[in-house]
Amino acid sequence: MIDTLFALSSGRLPAGVAVLRISGPEAAAAVLALAGVLPPPRVARYGALSDPRTGEMLDRGLILFFPGPASATGEDVAELHLHGGRAVVAAVLRALSALPGLRPAEAGEFTRRAHANGKLDLAEVEGLADLVAAESEAQRKQALALASGALSRRVEGWRVGLVSALALIEAGIDFSDESDVSGEVTTDAVARLARLKDELLAALTDAARGERVRDGLVVAISGPPNAGKSTLLNRLAGREAAIVSALPGTTRDVLEVHLELAGQAVTLLDTAGLRETSDLVEAEGVRRALARAEGADVVLWLCDTGSEPPPALTRAVKVRTKIDRNDAIPEGWIGISAATGAGVDALVGRLEREADRLGGREPALITRERQRRALEVATLHLERALGDFGGHEELRAEDVRLAVRALDQLIGRVDVEDILDALFSTFCIGK
Ligand code: GDP
Repeated sequence: MIDTLFALSSGRLPAGVAVLRISGPEAAAAVLALAGVLPPPRVARYGALSDPRTGEMLDRGLILFFPGPASATGEDVAELHLHGGRAVVAAVLRALSALPGLRPAEAGEFTRRAHANGKLDLAEVEGLADLVAAESEAQRKQALALASGALSRRVEGWRVGLVSALALIEAGIDFSDESDVSGEVTTDAVARLARLKDELLAALTDAARGERVRDGLVVAISGPPNAGKSTLLNRLAGREAAIVSALPGTTRDVLEVHLELAGQAVTLLDTAGLRETSDLVEAEGVRRALARAEGADVVLWLCDTGSEPPPALTRAVKVRTKIDRNDAIPEGWIGISAATGAGVDALVGRLEREADRLGGREPALITRERQRRALEVATLHLERALGDFGGHEELRAEDVRLAVRALDQLIGRVDVEDILDALFSTFCIGK
């Protein structure tokens, strides 16, 4: 017998409304036990909820029932919309746990059931996890596309293409006595495989963008000590409404500020002043600063004298600071005064253009390293399948089969358990 799960699915208490979800074969019985009636499918009914053991009323609220399989999890699902007080929710949870066959859900367990019942494939589950975690507009759009099956549909299309090419190759093998026919079908199959390979490569080329949007862009602010880096960071932090957190490290370490620019999640890093030093701790700070700056998506080189950045940072956007004192701005530099705010809008505009360029407008198809690796394996087998097999077409067929298998892994048709365990551990309870 499958357990019936229940959990608080809405956020932190106290809140205006709390939503409890119940999923499993006893969902209807649980509603009947607490409310005395079962509303018709997908119709909200307002009513009293009582403790079945004592008959005491616990709360009044909305009750919904979604019979399986046309429900979020594929099982019978009920929702109780209660007043969002801690004691109210605790009392209803206690009453539910006393019912036979019911137990509290673990993190991600509702989604796990949805996956087990064929409601969501692995890529869609990953999209759902990203959607709940999304902080920026670009992350929301990308996650919603993934959760709505954008990647799954593309992969399914590629899979159909590969399987039909495979059928041609196998027909060629069957007709290998009639070399005319077999040569023709093989040529046709190889042409189809070549087109598919181009499509897979295009998606792979775009994968770095998807991962970057998902992780957020990193902008490093580097430059010599006293160039005005912290002052600029504070000014950017102070004027932006969308700051999530400011995490101070030590003064010699790296400081981070999270904000949203052009719809992209951006982490600004204030790195330690870059200079020669005999202080061991500071030298370590400088080493880390340079390493973080080199790994960043965008580097700002701040300098109040206009000295060029070190060779490792030649791609940096050059910013002449403190123009309130000296407004001689070298060619190719942006001039700012973090003290007065002059030029800061132009600098933010430049950062927004960079964010737009790196993040793009359309949601990317591939957004996670796991997806990219599976696609890389599929592409590799497909490239092999395009080789010359000297008449041994069964070898070509085998490479195509391996490519199909890699695509199956990508959307979670095979070898999915370990990935799911790791993924669901990142979900909240009640999801
Ligand atoms: P950092 O070491 O690069 O982080 O530099 P700080 O932001 O700590 O600034 C070093 C000094 O320069 C401080 O005394 C700031 O008040 C001053 N400073 C920073 N920005 C400006 C500016 O735009 N104009 C002027 N006049 N002084 C500035």
